[in-house]
Amino acid sequence: MSIDSKKVATIHYKITDEKGIVQDSTEGEHPYSFLGSSDHMFPKVEEKLATMEAGEKATIELEAAEAYGEYIEEGVKITSKSNFPEGVELKEGMTFLTQQDGHDVPVTVKKVEDDNITIDFNHPLAGQKLKMEVELVELRDATEDEMAHGHVHGPGCSH
Ligand code: ZN
Repeated sequence: MSIDSKKVATIHYKITDEKGIVQDSTEGEHPYSFLGSSDHMFPKVEEKLATMEAGEKATIELEAAEAYGEYIEEGVKITSKSNFPEGVELKEGMTFLTQQDGHDVPVTVKKVEDDNITIDFNHPLAGQKLKMEVELVELRDATEDEMAHGHVHGPGCSH
């Protein structure tokens, strides 16, 4: 069972990789709110949250496939510098967003060799097992507007 699409979950979380390095965290920030079953949270985490009470904490182990996916060699491609906007200084390790099937996909520049640019479409955390510590802060009903828009409205919302 997952969190209902008519519910908004608010959580604090901390994601650590296999080396124990914190990759993402809401520590010292506002908790993260998301609409249930809306593709904004790993399904396995949503399933766990659906069983929890407000104030409860849990640690969830995620295999790569349950997190950002397996590392795919075919995701590494060599392209020409001419495919990038003029004036952009390409550096190894830099990331940018590109559109794929209507989604923003992060892409990493792996190597810059003259005109040959090696880019990696794998998510920076692809192929990694992750550990996610969560605390369920609140689970509430979504408003009509939130359900219509497909996202959560809050104090920082622009509309
Ligand atoms: Zn909205």
